[in-house]
Parts: sequence; C-alpha cells; structure tokens
Amino acid sequence: MSSYQEKNKGRVALITGSTSGIGKAIAQQLADDGFTVVFHSRTSVSEGESLAKALPSATYFQADLSDQVQTKKLISDILLHHGRLDVLVNNAGINAVIPHSSLKEATADIWRDLYEVNVIAPWILISEAEQALRDSSTPECPSSIINISSHAGVRPKGASIPYAASKSALNHMTQLLALTLSPDIRINAIAPGLVDTPMTTSWVEAHKLWKEKSPMKRGAKPNEIAHTASMLVSSSYLTGEIILSDGGLNLT
Ligand code: NAD
Repeated sequence: MSSYQEKNKGRVALITGSTSGIGKAIAQQLADDGFTVVFHSRTSVSEGESLAKALPSATYFQADLSDQVQTKKLISDILLHHGRLDVLVNNAGINAVIPHSSLKEATADIWRDLYEVNVIAPWILISEAEQALRDSSTPECPSSIINISSHAGVRPKGASIPYAASKSALNHMTQLLALTLSPDIRINAIAPGLVDTPMTTSWVEAHKLWKEKSPMKRGAKPNEIAHTASMLVSSSYLTGEIILSDGGLNLT
C-alpha cells in the first residue's frame, strides 16, 4: 500500500451516477487511491450492488436525484452508514439533443428536467453534505467536491442550449462555492469534451469532429477523466478551477 493509499484509508467518497461511464471510472480510480467508495445510481441496482461487493468496504445507494426528498436522504443514509464523508463527486447528469436553432423544441419542461438533475441536485447534495465535509477536513487533507460539467458549459457549443446552460450554471456555482466553502472544502469542476460512454455511443458527428479536428485526434476514455478527478482530489491547494478536458478541441 502506498503512503497516499494509506492516507486515504477510511476516507469516504460518494460518486453520483457511478454504475456506468465516467462515474464508474472515477469510483474505481478513487477505490484504487484507497478511498471507501460509495456507488450510486437512479436505476441500475444490481449493477451497483455487484460493483460495491467487488471492493472492500464499498457500498451502493439508490436515489433518483430529480426527487429532492431522495436526494437529501442519499446523504443522510450515507452518513448513517459510514459516519463521515470526505469527497463528493457530482457526476450524475442528463442530456437532451436539440438543434440550437429549434427554439420551440427546447420546451420549459426540458429546461426544468435538465436543471433539476444537472444543477439543483448537485446544489442539494453539496448543502446537505457541507457539515460532514467540514467535519472530516484537515489542513493536510481538505475535503473535496468535484462537479462534472461539460465543455458545452464553457464554449457556445453542446447537444442543446438548455444542456449547455445547465453545465455553465454548474461551472459558475463551482466558482462561487469555492469562495464560501474554503478553506475546509475545495471545489473544482471537470469540463469534458467528448467521452466514450453509453451517453455518446450514437453521437456519430461528434466522434467525427474529435477525430478530425481535435489535437488529440479522438474523444477521451472514461479512465482519462477519472485520472483528472484523482489529481483534483489529491491536490491540497486547487480550488475554483474548471478543468477543460477536451483533447485540445478548444484551441482549434
Ligand atoms: P452516463 O449516462 O453513463 O452516466 C450518467 C449517470 O447519471 C448515469 O449513471 C445515470 O444513472 C445518472 N443519472 C441520470 N439521471 C439521474 C437521476 N435523475 N438520478 C440519479 N442518477 C441519474 O453518461 P456519462 O457520459 O458517463 O456522463 C457522466 C457525466 O458527464 C454527466 O454529468 C454528463 O453530462 C457529463 N459529460 C459527459 C460527456 C460525454 O461525452 N460522455 C461530456 C461532457 C460531460
């Protein structure tokens, strides 16, 4: 066991939406880093339970984050079981693919659904977890929050305008909270470009764009985003950063 893994022994990390894609890769990376990992999903209960069973002391909790009662209960259930929380990764998110010029297709209900899961749920989770994160924080190991936003929240791009606006709101929330939560809690965001996950398998045009135009000539693998999350958790000084992880597409 490395000294970093030793340092993280007994520290608890919740990763929302962690039975697939980016969240699953982050949970497995943080488990490798020595954390006690909490898997979460809205529906894939048996997948979540078997992921947790494969790791020592890991657990799985189910909650629909579009339901505020379930969202609050997720944190209280975790604290009841584990007694502490050190890392919160707000990864769960939903998307809607709508051409930017089709304004009427982006209905108020779509805006509300996207904001409920991509903005309001992270806010509730952070506010419910704040005290526990402060309690477990030490100057050498400040507690850490990571929000998974999107390059669509940084540039005027994205699958739809409501999705891009929701991720932009999450980025701004990250910077505002960095001011109020410090020094006990650091908070940063990762803004991925294209990542090979179940969410993007049918996005043929996006895959073509990244292959032809991005300096890295491809989209990211989930474990590459997980390495960035691990770096942010292990840093004791970074806060309020939005890490654009788009293989350099932003430069073109
Ligand atoms: P994914 O579909 O594999 O993961 C999304 C997760 O969110 C799933 O586990 C799902 O269960 C969970 N989720 C959705 N709605 C929920 C709800 N109401 N309650 C609880 N959980 C819910 O997709 P992914 O690509 O791994 O996406 C993870 C995050 O990364 C998302 O926030 C997404 O917006 C963001 N992102 C992905 C890409 C990409 O190219 N894949 C790019 C930029 C940002």
